Formats: sequence, structure tokens, C-alpha cells
Amino acid sequence: MRIFQLLYHYLRTLLETNLLPKNIAQYIVKRRKEKYLKWLVHNSPYYSKYKEIKRLEDLPMGNKSMLMDNFDKINTKGLKKENCFDLALKSENDRNFSSMIGDISVGLSSGTSGNRGLFCANSSERALWAGIILAKVLPRSILSKQKIALFLRANNNLYDRLNSNKIIFCFFDMIIPLKEQINSLESYNPDYLVAPASVLCQIAKCIESKSLKITPTKIFSAAEVLDKADEAYLERVFNQKIHQLYQCTEGFLASTCSHGNLHINEEYIIVEKEYLDKKNGRFIPIITDLFRKTQPIVRYRLNDILVENTDSCPCGSHHLRLNAIEGREDDIFFFKHIESNEEVAVYPDFLRRAVISANDEIDEYRVIQYSAKEIEVQILSNSNISEITNSIRSNFDALFEKLNIQKPTIEFKQYKALDITQKRKRIERVHKGN
Ligand SMILES: [Zn+2]
Repeated sequence: MRIFQLLYHYLRTLLETNLLPKNIAQYIVKRRKEKYLKWLVHNSPYYSKYKEIKRLEDLPMGNKSMLMDNFDKINTKGLKKENCFDLALKSENDRNFSSMIGDISVGLSSGTSGNRGLFCANSSERALWAGIILAKVLPRSILSKQKIALFLRANNNLYDRLNSNKIIFCFFDMIIPLKEQINSLESYNPDYLVAPASVLCQIAKCIESKSLKITPTKIFSAAEVLDKADEAYLERVFNQKIHQLYQCTEGFLASTCSHGNLHINEEYIIVEKEYLDKKNGRFIPIITDLFRKTQPIVRYRLNDILVENTDSCPCGSHHLRLNAIEGREDDIFFFKHIESNEEVAVYPDFLRRAVISANDEIDEYRVIQYSAKEIEVQILSNSNISEITNSIRSNFDALFEKLNIQKPTIEFKQYKALDITQKRKRIERVHKGN
């Protein structure tokens, strides 16, 4: 691990995030952006044809398929997609997660849509990432001893390389059932617990049933949507605020501040907004990571729906504040307007609310749309199911009436539990046959 680089970025992030006046911090980002554009067009074969461009925003927009289709030309280290895929797949199958080409680590994104992406980072980028994440999320100095438990679907040698005699990461592989890991989690007793919301809920249930005793001082939900009901439940069981990390293959995008509000890491993540619903602040982020050099992430359109909050935050940060990470763009449901027959979008949050406000006794649920005329609602509850389904049906009816939507059929089913290694999605739009 490049420890001096890590320390440099740790201190730089603390300074930029917490201490510099807004105008100076913004000037630094502006300069960083100009320098990055210049660097990009001279180092990435794909972007070399854009030398005349003056603004980063004039570069073409990308997404996962564009990044994968042009992988060999976009990366600046001459990496070949085929070799990287072979290596990453092998390491995933062996579950050793340490695939490297020279000092470049190669990993696979856990794509939910089937098309998996590759991500590559060299040792400087890993040190940089580590410095930033430590500065953003650890409330105590990195010189005091702290233990971090990470529940992940696939390990990444980023985390292994963070281990030092002060900061110890313990990786819990989600492919192993939680009940088999309870003892090691209890004896490790982490100071910080990082896991997807669905795993945090399972851990909370073990704590409630007294089969597990741990005393984390800070808890992070990562990699899945944290909905309000789960957040309230987790806060009650753990008796503390639940923080969020918005970290994906494409970068470390946002984290919660001391007041528990999510802010985009705008020191190095440039976010352009493609509004879906401007009135309510819903947008798709198009991101550029000014620190990624091995595999540039430039004007990359994510598949996420974010909700902005334009109020200033009591923490004093001027970085874009988010109300929520609402879900994936793929999971917006589409119906037909009752008169015009035009498409009407219904955002995941409305669907979630229609279910959870129906009854307090719903333990788990999933809403799946197969077509504009057909949705399925799966429910898990020990309570009176017909009472619950009637109440959900009337909530949906009210929602559809309000939005002037042609009512689809709603089929209720018993909840089908997912394999723990699958990302939990409560709201999902699928095509039949998938
Ligand atoms: Zn804040």
C-alpha cells in the first residue's frame, strides 16, 4: 500500500471537505476539471480525437455498454477486455479476489441487469480511494485502532490493501449464510459495520433475538436502497443513526455527513443532472470522476434515480445534498394513461409507499411489473394476509386513480426469498420470461 499517498489524500480530503471556504474549494475543483480534460485527451486513445474541446461537458456521454464496447481504447494502460474478463471471472470463481495485471487490480461489477462490467484501478488510485473513504467516513483519527466489518458479495483487493496495524478490515463473504458467520462477527465485534440494508436487517433481527451481541459505533448501509421503514427499524435496534455509502463500481459517489445527510463527493465527482421529474428533484446522474486514470469514467450515465435536496445542510457542506437514492432507472414502472393511452411513469418510491403504508405487519415484500397491465405483489407476513392484500390493493387503486392510469391486474403471491448473494430489489420491472 502506498501509505504516504493514502495519508496525503486523507489529509487533503479532510481539508477540502471541512476547512476550506466555499470559493477556494470550488476554484480547486474548477482547476482540477480543466487539468483532467487536458490529461484525458492526451492519454486515452478513445478521447484523443477531442483535443479541440474546451469543456468536459462537450465530450460524448457514456454508459456501461459504451464503456465495455470501447474498453480497450478508453483505458490508458493498454489493457485488453478479453484478458481482463478472463482474469476477473477466474478470481470470482475461486473467490480469492486478487486478480492483478502488473499493479492494476481487475474486478467485475455485480450488475443486476445481466451485463457485467469490468473495473480496473492501479495502486495509486487504490491509495487515493482509501484516503478519501477514510477521511469521509471514519469519525476517529486514522491513528487510533479501529475494526471494520464489511459484508460484500465479492471481495476486492482494495479492502485487503487497506489493512494496517491500526485499521483492520474483516471481509464477510455474503455467499456464506449469515447464521454461519454470527460467531465470527460477535468475536470480531467491529467498531464499524458496513453492509447492504437487507443484511443489516438480518443482523438486527439476530440482535433482537439475542443470538448476537455486537457494539458497533457507526453503521453504514451500502449497495442497496435503504428505505425509510428499514432505516427506522435499524435505528431503533442499533440505537443510532444509520449512515449511507453510495459506492459503486463507477466510483465512491456520496456519503452521509455528521448530520446524517447524503452529499455527493463533489471534490472530484462532477455530477450533471438529467431530470426525470424536476419539481420533485428526481434525476439521473451523469458522473465524471476526476481522479480515475487507469479506466476513465467520463460523463458516465448511471442507471440510478437520485432525489436532490436544495436546502442547505446544517453541516455546512456546499456539496450537492441528496434526499434519497431511490432505485434504478430500470425499475420505474410504466402504465397507460386512462384517456390519452400515453405512458405514465411511476417511481419506485410511490410503489414502496403503497405497500408499506398498507399494514405494519408486512415483514418483506416485492412488487414486480411484467407489463403495463400486469403487476405482482409478493408478501411475507404472519398476520392476516387477506386483510393486508385488500389494504395494498386499495392503496394501489388510489395511486392509479390519482395518476389517471388504466388499472393493471394485481396478482398477490407468497414472498419468494432471494439467495443472500443476490441484490435485494423490492421494486422491479421485468419482462416475462426473464
Ligand atoms: Zn451535511
